[in-house]
Amino acid sequence: MLRISSDHYIAFMNPSNPPVAEAAPGDIVLFETRDCWGTDARGHNIRFVKDGRSYGNPATGPLRVTGAQPGDVLAVHVLDIKVAAMGGMVARPNVGALGHHIVQEERKPIPIVGGYALFNDLIRLPIHPMIGVIGTAPAAEDVPNTTPGPHGGNMDTRFIAAGATLYLPVFVDGANLAMGDVHAVMADGEVVICGVELPAEVTVKVDVIKGESLRGSPLPSPVLEAGDSLYCIASAKDLDEAETLALDHTMAFLKARLPLSTNEIGMLMSLVCNLQISQVVDPLKTVRVEIPRGPFASYGLSF
Ligand code: CA
Ligand code: CA
Repeated sequence: MLRISSDHYIAFMNPSNPPVAEAAPGDIVLFETRDCWGTDARGHNIRFVKDGRSYGNPATGPLRVTGAQPGDVLAVHVLDIKVAAMGGMVARPNVGALGHHIVQEERKPIPIVGGYALFNDLIRLPIHPMIGVIGTAPAAEDVPNTTPGPHGGNMDTRFIAAGATLYLPVFVDGANLAMGDVHAVMADGEVVICGVELPAEVTVKVDVIKGESLRGSPLPSPVLEAGDSLYCIASAKDLDEAETLALDHTMAFLKARLPLSTNEIGMLMSLVCNLQISQVVDPLKTVRVEIPRGPFASYGLSF
C-alpha cells in the first residue's frame, strides 16, 4: 500500500503543486495527516508562511491519479481514519460564529481514550473521525486550504468519514488529491471554529470516473455518498448563495438520473431532500442537500 508521509504537505490547492506520489485507479493509499495547526503524529510542528502570513490546515499530498483528466470525477472511498491519542480545540475572540462571546483565547487538550473524546471528567463524546479538508487541484486558482470551493477543500462536512465515498471534480491532469484537518468529533456548523483537531492516518481507495457526470456537464462541486444518502455539497460567501448553488446542483444531478419532469423533481426535493449546514466559519459557508436513496430505489439512484 502506498503511504504518503505528512512531510509532504501543501497549504494551498492550485494547479502547480507538483505531485508527491502517483496511484492507479483502484489503488489504496494511506495519507498521514497533520492537525490543523501543522503538528504531526510525532509532535513535530511546521508553519507555512507566505507573504508574511501564516496559513493553517496543511494537507498531505498531492497525489496524482493516473488517467484522471479535466472533466472526469475522482471517487475517493474512505476506508479508514485512525486518529492520534491526543486532540485539541481552541476558542478565540472574534473568530468563528461565537467569537463575540469569547473574551480570552483558550486552547484545550482533548485526550482520545477507548473511542471517546474526553472533554472533561463528566463529558466524554464518542468519536466519529471525519476529514475536514479534502480536495483536488483547482483549474487556475490558488485556494488556501482554509477555504472550500468546487474543488472540495475545507468543506468540514462531518459525513466525510470511513465508509463514505466522496466524488470530486477533476480540473487538472492527474487530479492532484490532498487532504488533512481531521476531526475526531465535530457538529454541523463547527461554530467555535474547530472540531477536536488531531493528526491522523487516512486510508482511501481512489477511482476515476471518466467523462461528464451530469449528462454532458462536468460535476459542478463535490458529491458525497454516505450511509443511505447522497449529498450535493456547495460553498459560497453566505448561506443563501450556498443553498442556491447546492439546490441547483441537486436539481441537475437528479434530472440527469431520473426520468421525471423538473416539476416532479422539485416536488420530491421539497418532500425528501433535507437542506443541511456543514459549516459557517471557513470563511465561505458550506451547505449540503441530502438525497435519501430510499424513495428513489425503484430508479436505482446512484452516483
Ligand atoms: Ca476545517
Ligand atoms: Ca479543523
